[in-house]
Amino acid sequence: MAMRNEETDLTAGESFYLKELFRLEAEGKARVTCVSLAAQLGLKPASVSDMFSKLEEKELLEKGRWGPVQLSSKGVEVASALIWRHRVLETYFCSALSLNPDEACRAASHIDSAIPKVVVAAMCRTMNHPSACVHGYSIPHPEG
Ligand SMILES: [Zn+2]
Ligand SMILES: [Zn+2]
Repeated sequence: MAMRNEETDLTAGESFYLKELFRLEAEGKARVTCVSLAAQLGLKPASVSDMFSKLEEKELLEKGRWGPVQLSSKGVEVASALIWRHRVLETYFCSALSLNPDEACRAASHIDSAIPKVVVAAMCRTMNHPSACVHGYSIPHPEG
């Protein structure tokens, strides 16, 4: 059974997909389908479809039978909190620990959904709530 995170109540796989979908929707490129996402991630459409069903059960994703998918409003909320975690961490790793952006991004990906929210919030405060991450993407601040 997959490890479930206590704070976010998501598996690592679910967190990964939510972040990917949030990024793709923010970029506003072509609408995401099971097939397009599978090709992009180098995965089998069947496994992407399984994950879509799980996210849909949790009311995080809305999808038609074969058509494009999109995050539900709850999905956007959960995904933006994940993106906040990721981008604050990588930005902190660069500015406070002098990692390069790629190292920082990779390290952040390992722990972004596992690290307690209070720690991320403290990092964000320490950096005065940066508006953009090390890659120049905007950082949402759902922590209030
Ligand atoms: Zn990153
Ligand atoms: Zn903040």
